[in-house]
Amino acid sequence: MSLDEHTLIQKYFSDVGSAFLAEKGVRVSVGDDAAIINNTPEKEFVVSIDTSIAEVHFLSSMDPSDIAYRSVAIALSDLAACGASPSWFTLALTVESIQEEWIKDFCKGLQSVCDEFRIPLVGGDTTKGPLSITVQVMGYCEEGCSITRKGAKAGDGIYVSGLIGSASKGLDDLKKGLEGTDEILTFTRPQARIELGKNLVGIATSAIDISDGLVQDLGHICSQSNLGCEVFLNKVPTRKNIPLTHKSINSGDDYEICFTANGLKEQIIKSVSEELGIPITKIGEMTEKKFIKVIDSEGKDIEVNAGYDHF
Ligand code: ADP
Ligand code: MG
Repeated sequence: MSLDEHTLIQKYFSDVGSAFLAEKGVRVSVGDDAAIINNTPEKEFVVSIDTSIAEVHFLSSMDPSDIAYRSVAIALSDLAACGASPSWFTLALTVESIQEEWIKDFCKGLQSVCDEFRIPLVGGDTTKGPLSITVQVMGYCEEGCSITRKGAKAGDGIYVSGLIGSASKGLDDLKKGLEGTDEILTFTRPQARIELGKNLVGIATSAIDISDGLVQDLGHICSQSNLGCEVFLNKVPTRKNIPLTHKSINSGDDYEICFTANGLKEQIIKSVSEELGIPITKIGEMTEKKFIKVIDSEGKDIEVNAGYDHF
């Protein structure tokens, strides 16, 4: 028997991450007309929303718990890029029909991302239609301290966390029917770099999370900061089995952080990397000239494609 919407919400969504309601100042959560949350003095709120659509952003054949985890993690990744601490999230879930087993597994993935980042689910919406998941996340920074795409200066180093190109290889593997490869894991369970982002406050002059492709996303830092950049292809960190081409470094879905920082911060960046156990690699420099230059190992400029285009 299929559950009605109200029972479904009560049974599966009313308790997700509820252990963190009090610590995040949530007075009223799932089940009322709206969530009610205390104000936090001397902080600024950081809010972001992401929609994941089946067969566009993920495969419906994936484990429902991975679908849930990924949908929240990619939204949290935007908070990471801003240097924010996450505090809660909402979920708009559209499903073709209510299949209890699927929902149960989906909620397991939700709960694990809640536990990892200590965030409660405070509300949402449930509708019928093609499978799609919209997650809104909210967090906060000290007033005036959030990192944006805007503050890069000419001469700043350009850095990336983790490895680039891994997740898109994972998606290809999934489509081929492979299972359990490291690359698949980077696609199904992307790591929101929250701790890194928080540590970059006061160090990074600008930052962005890499969702559509390194060069394309770095392009946003360039245009918002009114600068250009030079990136050295052979410096871009990638897995050994992924060839370094403009395509592999500009594939999306990595959810690593690309940031800029003054050269004087080099040593601090190194210690942050060691402390968190996250590789951070310098891949280039911001330039006064407003071009995006990618330079190959022979010193030649290479043509760069535009990364993932949503339309
Ligand atoms: P309304 O019709 O007043 O918008 P709903 O019936 O859509 O209320 O939702 C009832 C309650 O359940 C609300 O508190 C809403 O935030 C919550 N809710 C609905 N769907 C979800 C979901 N998928 N996840 C979490 N909370 C949900
Ligand atoms: Mg509603």
